[in-house]
Amino acid sequence: MTGIEATFIDRTPASAAHAARAAAVMPGGDTRAAAHHPPYQLTMTSGVGPYLTDLDGHRYLDLIGNFTSLVHGNAFGPIIEAATAAAARGTNWPARNEAAVELAEELCRRVASVDQVRFTNSGSEATMLAVEIARVATGRRRFLMAKYGYHGSMPQFEIGTSGQSGGETLIAPFGDLTAFEEMLELHGDDIACVILEPVLGSGGVVTPPDGFLAGVAAAARRVGALFVLDEVITLRLAPGGHQAVEGLLPDLTAMAKIIGGGFPVGAIGGRADLMELCNPFRPRIFHSGTFNGNPVTMAAGLEAVRHLTSDSISTMAVRSASLEERLRTSASTRGVPFSTRRAGSLLQVYLSDELPASNGERGDGELANLLHLALLNQGVFCAARGLIALSTALDDGLIEDAAARFDAALADVAAS
Ligand code: PLP
Repeated sequence: MTGIEATFIDRTPASAAHAARAAAVMPGGDTRAAAHHPPYQLTMTSGVGPYLTDLDGHRYLDLIGNFTSLVHGNAFGPIIEAATAAAARGTNWPARNEAAVELAEELCRRVASVDQVRFTNSGSEATMLAVEIARVATGRRRFLMAKYGYHGSMPQFEIGTSGQSGGETLIAPFGDLTAFEEMLELHGDDIACVILEPVLGSGGVVTPPDGFLAGVAAAARRVGALFVLDEVITLRLAPGGHQAVEGLLPDLTAMAKIIGGGFPVGAIGGRADLMELCNPFRPRIFHSGTFNGNPVTMAAGLEAVRHLTSDSISTMAVRSASLEERLRTSASTRGVPFSTRRAGSLLQVYLSDELPASNGERGDGELANLLHLALLNQGVFCAARGLIALSTALDDGLIEDAAARFDAALADVAAS
């Protein structure tokens, strides 16, 4: 065991005991694979603004915001007020609520390709519904995604996330337009849609070459397949999503995370003629869900989206660039191998000098785990895989603080 692991275990006895208790009733003591890490994940008792607090009373600067969803930090005042007021009026009923229509209107206004919206309870449900709409619209079964792309924890997507083709899932390397074109030419008659993240999120914040997304959209349309953008993460990068940045008009767009203000959410939006397939007056697709569009999530999501302005997005990007620069300098001073990828407020760090093409091909797993524990020991919480997602709650002073703590963690890694 390294000194870093020993320190982690020493300072978190209450979380360790809670992990053992959890393991009796939850396999691995866990209910969310992406949050898992050895030797055990912490039990948090609260999240307020830029901080999380664990069961042992330690405070952490939150640099991940529940895997990119808390774009305004924890317990953001306007969201808590709106959600509390909504909950006091009733948590849900099997009839329309006003906030759902307002949030749908807001999303249609912001995202150019979105004429209409259906809400779900997660991004995974939204991407599943997108594929289902594409299947019914085209009468085809297969879909094409990026190798190591992520669209949720469903077997049909996870197969591609793990880098395989199989069943109805076809894959091609992200950023390789020719490979996508060839796949579409070869299997076009069978392909209902291409679904792509504009920037690979869990794959490592990988931005594709210029023209890739537009090229894939054109190739998909040539063979009569739909082009679906998964903006579950990238909706935080521009008010109209990444599609606005590149002037793309996907047939369908998957959204989630920030649009729920911290509550479980997902949505699919797109062309009216495609969304019409879900119209319950003329149903071609039966799409339901007990909590779809529930008033608490909708009220919270509305506040989150309205407070996410172009200015706040640009400020987060500037802070993220400055943090990236500080971390690079620290790593080089401390003699730790280091590389990064960044898109706006999203920053992926690797403990290797060579940048892997994606997280599917990284070779720094063990060192990255060590850095993650070292960061926790220094009071910084980011994803175990090295993802940082800034929130509007992190001001310049807190970015300085994060950089200093990161520097100390890199020194611990160098000494280990
Ligand atoms: N799509 C992308 C790009 C994601 O990053 C995620 C989650 O991380 C999902 C879909 C699935 O969303 P959820 O976890 O809400 O099911």
